[in-house]
Amino acid sequence: MSNLNNLTISDALDGMEKGDFSARELTEAHISAMEKTRELNAYIVETPEIALEMADASDKKRAAGDAGLMEGIPIAMKDLFCTEGTQTTAASRILDGFVPTYESTVSGNLWNAGAVMLGKSNLDQFAMGSANITSYYGNVINPWQRKDSDAQLTPGGSSGGSAASVAARSAMAATGTDTGGSIRQPAAFSGIVGLKPTYGRCSRWGVIAFASSLDQAGPMTRSVRDAAIMLEAMAGYDAKDSTSVNVAVPCYQKALTGDIRGLKVGIPKEYRMDGTPKEIDEAWEQGIEWLKSAGAEPVEISLPHTKYALPAYYIIAPAECSSNLARYDGVRYGLRVDGESLDDMYERTRGEGFGDEVKRRILIGTYVLSAGYYDAYYNKARRVRTLIANDFKKAYESVDVILTPTAPSPAFGIGEKMDDPIAMYLNDVFTVPASLAGLPGISIPTGLSSEGTPLGLQLLGKAFDEETVLKVAGVVEEAAGFSALPQLMAGGK
Ligand code: GLN
Repeated sequence: MSNLNNLTISDALDGMEKGDFSARELTEAHISAMEKTRELNAYIVETPEIALEMADASDKKRAAGDAGLMEGIPIAMKDLFCTEGTQTTAASRILDGFVPTYESTVSGNLWNAGAVMLGKSNLDQFAMGSANITSYYGNVINPWQRKDSDAQLTPGGSSGGSAASVAARSAMAATGTDTGGSIRQPAAFSGIVGLKPTYGRCSRWGVIAFASSLDQAGPMTRSVRDAAIMLEAMAGYDAKDSTSVNVAVPCYQKALTGDIRGLKVGIPKEYRMDGTPKEIDEAWEQGIEWLKSAGAEPVEISLPHTKYALPAYYIIAPAECSSNLARYDGVRYGLRVDGESLDDMYERTRGEGFGDEVKRRILIGTYVLSAGYYDAYYNKARRVRTLIANDFKKAYESVDVILTPTAPSPAFGIGEKMDDPIAMYLNDVFTVPASLAGLPGISIPTGLSSEGTPLGLQLLGKAFDEETVLKVAGVVEEAAGFSALPQLMAGGK
């Protein structure tokens, strides 16, 4: 049973159904992979005992003919989802040692569907970042390396631990959250599939908030079919989240027909940006050709306000974060650093508890929300956001999906761009617009860069039309036939 951790979710479900192996064996294979790949620092907390208990329960459920959609599938849970009885930190010192007394809706949905928790995966602190280098628990290392170099690369962020664990085969799949690209960009950097659903599709209840009008949970997997299975298990209306939308959850796998004849695929001309490396543009052209050969029709479209998306995002997200993070005061959760007065205690707790990037964003956020600047920055950014959403609405009058690169570069080295927050923010250029518009998007691995590291393409869809996104993604996946393996995986180098 040595190769169990190479299977996709759909193959593993078949294997368990046929009795080829048990959930316990599958889970043991992943626990051992988790141990062998600790150098990647993908997990903040490993929960092997819980995993084995859940796996045994899964085997019983399957034997009783009562298997759920994800029965016996071992996954990593991004450490932004509150898990009852298991430490949840958002990768911040301020929550070090915080053990929730409740379960987030999405993680609860996954456990109800039979998924098995391997541990809590590492991330950028409070999900702020694009390289998983702002975690209090240390950087995550990408299991991929450049040809002829063993320099450590970032797995992307903020869901870097989730991406690295799935790529390194120490989890079959993982949850991510995406506020401005944190599922899609790490998926692209790590050679896996990452799906950000429509805002409101998955409940935010119990997910530690970064920017509430943007945050959305989604699956990170090694195949499009697995993303479809996992999304079905995660999604659904939740009365506890006022922005959760009450629309039925379809069986997403049924959308994977492979038939995209006649579909119109928008190619936004504003995404052809100066300075984008040639190989990123070439991969995009290749994607267009694949879809054309499958019978879809590429259509050039315009999303005229694209260039304002990043500045608007980096006002709105910090504004919301400054308000959401006001609750960490040393009284209710996690860290408390005593002081001479109550105010002093607040200041010391927040001063020592939050990392630099989190502080930077709180400062920006309080500034753009302050009385004198509110109209100039925050209100203007909100208006820009509406224009961006309208760009997409207009485009979707003539196309069914939109194809773009996921990120403007392959994985970069840990240490590169670290002292330049603006260069880091530019990484989100292709992912942020759809986040502002609340639209679904997926990243699919399509090939390798000249450095030998993964490249991804992004497909965006209409609100609540994850089915078309998945259908087209399935065709891209098939055409790309991406099968390369990272160097630093369990059983690898
Ligand atoms: N990289 C973006 C940021 O730093 C997006 C993060 C995210 O989606 N959580 O804000």
